Amino acid sequence: MNLAEFIIRVESYNANIDIPLIRRAYEFSDRAHAGQKRQSGEPFVEHCLEVAFVLAELHMDSTTIAAGLVHDVVEDTNFTLEDIRREFGDEVAELVDGVTKIGAVYFNSFEEQQVEYFRKMLLSMAKDIRVILIKLADRLHNMRTLGALPAEKQKRIAQETRDVYCPLAHRLGINKTKVELEDLCFKYLEPEVYQELAVQIRERREERESYILEVTTPIKEALARDGILGTVSGRAKHLDSVYRKIRVRKVPFEEIYDLFAIRVIVNTERECYHTLGILHAMWKPVAGRFHDYIANPKPNGYRSLHTTVIGPRNKMVEIQIRTHSMHYVAENGIAAHWLYKEGRQQMSKDDRQMVWLRDVLDWQKDMTNPAEFIEYLKMDLYSEDIFVYTPNGRLVHLPRGATPLDFAFQIHTEIGIHCAGAKINGRLQPLSTQLKSGDSVEIITNPARTPSSDWLKMVKTANARTRIKRWIKQAGYEQAVELGKEMAERKLRELHLKMPPDDQLLEFAQQHDRKTVDDLFASVGNGSVSLQSLMLFIQPEEKKEEVGFVGKVMDRIRGSRGVRVQGLDNLMFRFAGCCQPVPGDNIVGFITRGRGVTIHQAECSLALEIATKYPERKIEVSWDTGKDQSFVVQLEIVVEDRRNMLRDITQAIADSNTNVRGAEIYTHDTTAIGKFVVEVTNLAHLNRIIDKVKKVKGVLSVRRAHGREPVDN
Ligand code: MN
Repeated sequence: MNLAEFIIRVESYNANIDIPLIRRAYEFSDRAHAGQKRQSGEPFVEHCLEVAFVLAELHMDSTTIAAGLVHDVVEDTNFTLEDIRREFGDEVAELVDGVTKIGAVYFNSFEEQQVEYFRKMLLSMAKDIRVILIKLADRLHNMRTLGALPAEKQKRIAQETRDVYCPLAHRLGINKTKVELEDLCFKYLEPEVYQELAVQIRERREERESYILEVTTPIKEALARDGILGTVSGRAKHLDSVYRKIRVRKVPFEEIYDLFAIRVIVNTERECYHTLGILHAMWKPVAGRFHDYIANPKPNGYRSLHTTVIGPRNKMVEIQIRTHSMHYVAENGIAAHWLYKEGRQQMSKDDRQMVWLRDVLDWQKDMTNPAEFIEYLKMDLYSEDIFVYTPNGRLVHLPRGATPLDFAFQIHTEIGIHCAGAKINGRLQPLSTQLKSGDSVEIITNPARTPSSDWLKMVKTANARTRIKRWIKQAGYEQAVELGKEMAERKLRELHLKMPPDDQLLEFAQQHDRKTVDDLFASVGNGSVSLQSLMLFIQPEEKKEEVGFVGKVMDRIRGSRGVRVQGLDNLMFRFAGCCQPVPGDNIVGFITRGRGVTIHQAECSLALEIATKYPERKIEVSWDTGKDQSFVVQLEIVVEDRRNMLRDITQAIADSNTNVRGAEIYTHDTTAIGKFVVEVTNLAHLNRIIDKVKKVKGVLSVRRAHGREPVDN
């Protein structure tokens, strides 16, 4: 393609094109890239022209087309952004700058790179979405000419395209670019499968085309009878989507019936429904395959009626019905917003695409794990929506698999946070129920109800997930502040001291890189600043407490390892003396006054008592044991009083590779009660010891000690 040909073709898309600008941009690009060649051997400016042409096909404005012509100048030549700005003004310069910045991302890990890539794109998109359109056009042409590159590079670029650009094109609704990119990725990533499928589809071409004719002819006649002017066409679906169907449905190629789709394009929305009526009268519709995306557009703006009918010779036929303008949007997506809108490219803030973009930018702030972000973004980009209703008939879009909890967060964060139950179609259902399109959902809230980490397993949307995590984190901070303050106050009372004024505490806080007094207390609460160091600051002469044997054991079992307190990092905790849980036991935690979190067995009678009296103190905990970590448990062993009993039991315990921390035996007439403090790694280990000890001659019973502690903890 040369410039003259380019201009003629561009004018066919946009009669208002600014030809002098396009010419200048071309000449500038040609000069800047002079002497540069692509891998294929063509002059580099060819690439710029092709990219600009893709933009023209998307009906983009002159500014974007000009920017497309010079998009590689800053990155690949000696010219600078300032040169572009001087030559073409701020708007073109900003676009080129955006494109250049996205390009210059290099990271160690692939996932990290992807996330950074996405993030940059999304950010530049939020500034000016045309940057992404140029980037997409650039990638499309690079993919079209990928054959010239070495195989390894082909795969890498194709994978990146599949991971980043295809989802974006899909989300932005630019179907024609998406379809072409998907097929090109398929071709380079799975060349054998691709070729095989291409051959199969080609072989069935004649058969397909004659069948398409069998379907389209009666449709055309029926439309004409009812005075509807429309175009009816049938075309093979793109290879990537056919292949995806084969994989998803796990059926052989021969059984895929929807290798093609019939499309009817008419003039008005009314005619769409009229046409649907005609088709359903002519052929029996397949139940469950009708979708009204006109009344309920897809999140990317796509609108159409979809139906599947039992067509001639009892074959299933997929039919899409839409108006010309719906078709235009379906093919060009977000780019459709620029159609003949030279000079006013500002998108409305309420535009669905922009709302989505803001949401994504919001989530990515909270996602630190690149893999997680990618997973959620992809799910969000690709998921097909379901539509459910609020009790007053408002329509809510959710991804497939979403639950009432997702719904609640979608309605309002507060409703999500206090969501206590859900009625689906009038009946109370669990919050984990998967919603179906058409469900009517009513959320029951309770101010006392708040998120727990279980909720994370029940939600599908990134939105709900982020809100829940944020809440748990925030609540965790507040709890830690409260706890740290209580710990300090309690200790000060014991020492008959007063809490120093805030400015003194702030001084101490800043010594420890904490910004505020609250941050300091939170750190004390979660153990990252020790209470002792705070006390030493308040009263430097304070003598260290004497610590006895019991204290040492307690110290040993107190710590910030071994248990994960949901949402709270490094909170101080201790294992309750009454039930001495070990890994494998079900456990529960209670925030205690001034002593961190106490971990009990879930079945512990004391724990049940505390839970009833102080339900607000109960928190979720789970085991998180590291290597070589041991837990102290006391065993109560009833034995016949005989010689060497203590020695034999100690021996039996030692035989099972266990440390005995202490042992005492009290005699009682002919029986004796032995108390053994042992270190175990988990419940299985403990059970092994119990079995061993039971086998010692004269042992009557062995059980874990169940002492009691005062309830006021
Ligand atoms: Mn380029």
